[in-house]
Amino acid sequence: MKISLNPQAKDVATRDALVAEGGFGKYYTDHMVVCEWSEKDGWSEPELKPYGPISLDPATAVFHYGQEIFEGMKAYRQPDKSIALFRPEANAKRFARSAKRLALPEMPESLFLETVETLVQHDGGWVPNKVGESLYLRPFMFATEVGLGVRPSNKALYMLIATPVGAYFDPSKAVSVWISTEYVRAALGGTGEAKCGGNYAASLIAQKAAAAQGCDQVVWIDAIERRWVEEMGGMNLYFVKGTGADATVMTPKLTGTLLPGITRDSILSVAADLGYKVEETMISIDDWRDGVASGLITEIFACGTAAVVSPVGQAKSTMGTWVTGDGQPGKITMQIRNALLGIQHGEIADTHKWMHAVI
Ligand SMILES: *Cc1c(COP(=O)(O)O)cnc(C)c1O
Repeated sequence: MKISLNPQAKDVATRDALVAEGGFGKYYTDHMVVCEWSEKDGWSEPELKPYGPISLDPATAVFHYGQEIFEGMKAYRQPDKSIALFRPEANAKRFARSAKRLALPEMPESLFLETVETLVQHDGGWVPNKVGESLYLRPFMFATEVGLGVRPSNKALYMLIATPVGAYFDPSKAVSVWISTEYVRAALGGTGEAKCGGNYAASLIAQKAAAAQGCDQVVWIDAIERRWVEEMGGMNLYFVKGTGADATVMTPKLTGTLLPGITRDSILSVAADLGYKVEETMISIDDWRDGVASGLITEIFACGTAAVVSPVGQAKSTMGTWVTGDGQPGKITMQIRNALLGIQHGEIADTHKWMHAVI
């Protein structure tokens, strides 16, 4: 990798003050990684360089036809002050699958990991120290062929940026959701399984509709039968059936339209490790409404890299409003959240070998 250090890198005091401010995506680290691809020459040597704006021709393909994908992953400070990534190989594999679906080049896993490790090695000082805090890494790639012809681009640019994330989890606040029956996120054969910007572009109007209903997030249901629960915004969903040691932890099955979350996948193992029955199954909006009414469904939570685990409280739809529990995060939700965060921060044994040491 070519290394071009930032002569204007923040001094330690300034950097630490920015990291301490917390938030999400407010500040970016001193460096970024870029790597070009062309059909003719393949992948170029990646370069670590100062974080900063890029310049693109107005006729660049991505601006017109939206050929773009991204990933989201985190680096966590460990008790011995070293830094480790959580399952970056899983992100590398998903990035390649998303690339394939968007007719972009599949970046080799080793190259993807090299870029992530190199950025963390150079900007490791930006990784916060407390549990619940981390450095969020955003790899992305887009079509850079210049021209308005509609075809898979023969050039692409991969970039990697990073932003420190504070502990913004408020345990007293469950997320409220609007179940959208008007809009569709994904249909079989579409791009629902790919992590692409276009999915988000098409989802924002529903997010707006949710806000207009006084809800924090939108919940997506399937495109065909309009009854199977799929996801919440950019996160996967979990439902807890029953209480205590006999509880079952369920998540909607991957049907080809859901984004296969790495947090979702990890929780299947963590919940089983904690002794719960786990199920990947079809969950309908009727199951949700009736389960909450009868008390069979005791807890609901959403999960994803950014927030890890967020309790879901009130659900609103054209069919009515249902509230799970007492609006406080459920016991099992918090137990799973703490178990996963414990592994990520190196405080609980990493029996699944998920942590990838960097420095
Ligand atoms: C990224 C994403 C998720 C969560 O995936 P993680 O790997 O757990 O971060 C869920 N749904 C959508 C639509 C996403 O884009």
